[in-house]
Amino acid sequence: MGGPHHDAQRHDVPEADAFTRPYWAAAAEGRLLIRRCAACGRAHHYPREFCPHCWSEEVTWEEASGRATLYTWSAVHRNDLPPFRARVPYLAAVVDLAEGPRMMTELVDCPERAVRAGMPLRVAFRDGIPVFTPTGR
Ligand SMILES: [Zn+2]
Repeated sequence: MGGPHHDAQRHDVPEADAFTRPYWAAAAEGRLLIRRCAACGRAHHYPREFCPHCWSEEVTWEEASGRATLYTWSAVHRNDLPPFRARVPYLAAVVDLAEGPRMMTELVDCPERAVRAGMPLRVAFRDGIPVFTPTGR
């Protein structure tokens, strides 16, 4: 560890280490990466150095389609950690990526009353952080 110290620490941006740097670099360009295991063929998220399904280390980066469906969500009305404090209320969500992995994220551009389980979503990026928004069929 031992990265630069930030006085105004943000709690929504994990500090990139050598392993997760490609993930955050892609996100900064508007691309969502997942990890795919060559041994069992399954994808996972968040990124790990070995497959959580079969423990193989033959895992490589793959660009996700960005399509997902909403699994569950929770409206957050209070969060004292910056930068969430300025954002409440927001919709914390768990989505199922089209590739299979389940991902914790945030639902944006969607009024709470319009949220439905299973609704189709697509990835969007806010300050280099993947969030999800309704596809608006
Ligand atoms: Zn595997």
